[in-house]
Amino acid sequence: MRAEQRSHISRRIESVHPSGIRKFFDLIASTAGGISLGVGEPDFLTPPQIRAAAIRSIEAGETHYTSNYGMIELRELIAERIERVRGVRYDPRTEILVTIGVSEGVDLALRATAEEGDEIIVADPSYVAYTPAIFFAGAAAVPVVADASTGFRLMPGAIEAAITPRTKGILVGFPNNPTGAVLEPEDLQGIAEIADRYDLLVYSDEIYDRLVYGGPHRSILDIPGMRERTIYLNGFSKAYAMTGWRVGYACAPAPILAQMMKIHQYTVMSGPTAGQYAAIEALKSGEPDVQRMHAEYDRRRKLVWERFNEMGLPCSEPRGAFYAFPDVRPTGLSEVEFSERLLVEEKVAVIPGSAFGAHGAGHIRACYANSYEQINEAMDRIARFVARL
Ligand code: PLP
Repeated sequence: MRAEQRSHISRRIESVHPSGIRKFFDLIASTAGGISLGVGEPDFLTPPQIRAAAIRSIEAGETHYTSNYGMIELRELIAERIERVRGVRYDPRTEILVTIGVSEGVDLALRATAEEGDEIIVADPSYVAYTPAIFFAGAAAVPVVADASTGFRLMPGAIEAAITPRTKGILVGFPNNPTGAVLEPEDLQGIAEIADRYDLLVYSDEIYDRLVYGGPHRSILDIPGMRERTIYLNGFSKAYAMTGWRVGYACAPAPILAQMMKIHQYTVMSGPTAGQYAAIEALKSGEPDVQRMHAEYDRRRKLVWERFNEMGLPCSEPRGAFYAFPDVRPTGLSEVEFSERLLVEEKVAVIPGSAFGAHGAGHIRACYANSYEQINEAMDRIARFVARL
């Protein structure tokens, strides 16, 4: 007797939608003459001395696992960097873990801390992976509006209004993907006060900390006492144009990091070895490259911001990361219709804002990590498309 046929797929995982970004990426990749302002990754190549360091490590036979925590030399350099820029000291032996990008860091942080049924507050719109990662950890995402009505900032008052007895923490990802918004010092101060008052954790994804324009990046770690209730996540993908190397890091007080380490140890063992050699070189010699790329992003940022406003799509100043988030409602189209028709009619890929949360509706995300010339051409095409509507 054979058993009755049943689904072999987890209902829990099946209920999660695949990323709305990839769909547009795959479409543009197969379109001749297409320009992608879609996927959020640097168009720059990893700087040559960083690539060379990884090649040297491979040729020298460094092809084994590293420590589960990551190479100690890399952890020491990370500790030094954070101490220098944030004035906060993490112990490289017990409080820093090298991860497979910030992606793994987000997953570990949530899984190591959230209980079934806990609630995690997250800005809406925000990075597409946050809500699924919260769900995978058994918790529930509680979206808090961070749209045009708040200048795309995550406001302490709105956070406080969303707190319940089940609230475990606040996931803060600023500079923000998709809006390009940054938080003001008073926002961070307010978030810190709430975290303290309600005894919450802060999961702080600061992957865009080197891509802030017109002022310094501010971190939740800058606020005295927050180190003790923060899981700080950062990495190499964006600032050093190293998305493919898959290297990031998580920093947290030792008792929390020890739990994250167990999941990491049993699921991925250690970060990529060649990638860690590349990351060491990035921290040692990559600063001029970061500054060169920053200057170029800044130039492109001004172009897209100006051009969207000129063509009648209101766009607030993108102050961080490499995204602009214009309002497409003046065209009468929804963000999905706009993105789909723009792709078909003008071969330009952007992402509908609703892919990042319900409050992203009416907007599109345009990533300016593409060459100035390509962006200019894409803007001409978008202007032509808008004028036709
Ligand atoms: N966090 C944010 C806000 C992102 O935008 C991205 C990538 O787009 C990531 C994390 C993932 O970064 P990583 O390549 O370090 O996994």
